[in-house]
Amino acid sequence: MTTTVWWIRRDLRLADNCALATALEGATRLVPLFVVDPHLTGHSARSQRRIAFLFSALRALDEALRERGSRLVVRSGDPVEVLPRVVAECGATLVAAEADFTPYARRRDERLRSLVPLRLTPGLTLRMPGTVATRDGRPPRIFRHFARAFLAAGEASRDDLLPPPRRLPPLPPLASEPLPDPPASLPEHWTPSETVARARLARFLGDAIARYHEARHFLDGQGTSRLSPYFRFGLLSVREAWHRAAELLDDPERGPGARAWLDELLWREFFHHLLAAFPESVTRSLRPAFRDVDWPGEPWALAAWREGNTGFPVVDAAMRQLAHEGWISNRARMVVANFLTRSLLVDWRAGERWFRKHLIDADLAANVGGWQWCAGTGTDAAPYFRIFDPVRQAERFDPTGEWIRQWVPELAAVPQPYLSAPWTMPLSLQLSTGCRVGRDYPAPIVDLSAARERALAWFRPVTRRKG
Ligand SMILES: Cc1cc2nc3c(=O)[nH]c(=O)nc-3n(C[C@H](O)[C@H](O)[C@H](O)COP(=O)(O)OP(=O)(O)OC[C@H]3O[C@@H](n4cnc5c(N)ncnc54)[C@H](O)[C@@H]3O)c2cc1C
Repeated sequence: MTTTVWWIRRDLRLADNCALATALEGATRLVPLFVVDPHLTGHSARSQRRIAFLFSALRALDEALRERGSRLVVRSGDPVEVLPRVVAECGATLVAAEADFTPYARRRDERLRSLVPLRLTPGLTLRMPGTVATRDGRPPRIFRHFARAFLAAGEASRDDLLPPPRRLPPLPPLASEPLPDPPASLPEHWTPSETVARARLARFLGDAIARYHEARHFLDGQGTSRLSPYFRFGLLSVREAWHRAAELLDDPERGPGARAWLDELLWREFFHHLLAAFPESVTRSLRPAFRDVDWPGEPWALAAWREGNTGFPVVDAAMRQLAHEGWISNRARMVVANFLTRSLLVDWRAGERWFRKHLIDADLAANVGGWQWCAGTGTDAAPYFRIFDPVRQAERFDPTGEWIRQWVPELAAVPQPYLSAPWTMPLSLQLSTGCRVGRDYPAPIVDLSAARERALAWFRPVTRRKG
């Protein structure tokens, strides 16, 4: 009798799951285990919606396991204490789990290595972090270099994708706690299950991908796959998504979109490899020149940004959608991150923390990577003089104004030409539309051209320093 443990962490799927396949090798009894770790789920700073997504996904996984003759075993506590207990109770000879490269996961797994027979497998990324290197053997710090090295290494074959098992070995006698209840409700369009994730991928690749390279820029996020929470919790294999999109590269209609989409999957990959190589980047600017600077942004500015009360409709719509739905488009993320760090000169770490608290898809690697890129503090980052004009961003990327009106209802009656800059409305119009700037909707918290000069004056000397 060989008993193994499949320790499920952020790979809540049966298809193309290396950890599951490793646990199944030679196993006559399998324990699909989820540990509810208070460090990851108990924090008030965590997004309740993200936890709800995770716990709902666990229910779906449990159902899929039951259909295959197994079920989920749930235990709560610190995994460093729980895992050795479970292994002792069932006599397991192996604990297989997907490698995770966040600093917390690495510390936890390091401690566990001496306590249980832990084997970490690939799965979270296309390639294991640490295996993509420049010619001098170092981890690439620039996206272009990373992409070149990644593609030069050749692609894993599609045949390597692992099918979902039809049946699973039985469980040994083992007590389980009930599945945890989701602490919040989820917006209808986030149904967390592997089946839904695969159907979404198929739908996206079947149609919307043909317009992706153009539509992805729009603020409403309707032109992208909206798969990020599914990738975040591994309801979908990124390897499978990569292969399915790569098959479309020669398709005359879908090829250009597929190329652009694969590039975004590569950015995800890049940030995961970067976090693994530079774990300190979670709290420290990657560019040394920014490490000992004091960002002059004031707390009231950060508060207005968080609340979506800056007086700039594009920023306020994004921040309110984030608070309400737990998801915003990549364009919206870039606009608000650029505004916070450039126009308000607030430290990127405050924005990163706020996103982490609210995003359903919050992923340490992508979030820290995205923030350091936008702030100009990353190894590969937007140049400091690239300061978005929030008025122009709204005009270009929400041309009908529908998205802004949805999230900033005070502006519902404001005519289109004034929607991106309501403070320019004549007073008579403010009165007739019921949107008096400074009363019904905030006046802009900064003067854009003065903020631009202030940002340039602050960034210029810092970026001229070495590093
Ligand atoms: C400041 C900032 C913070 C961000 N924080 C996160 C985060 O916490 N979690 C997260 O998953 N993404 C984050 N992103 C990246 C990106 O905005 C989201 O992945 C994307 O908007 C998700 O929508 P989608 O699934 O429709 O993406 P699509 O455009 O359909 O792309 C497909 C997938 O590729 C990945 N991806 C796309 N763009 C990026 C990118 N720029 N960087 C890394 N991966 C990308 C995601 O996994 C995404 O699901 C952040 C970007 C910025 C600028």
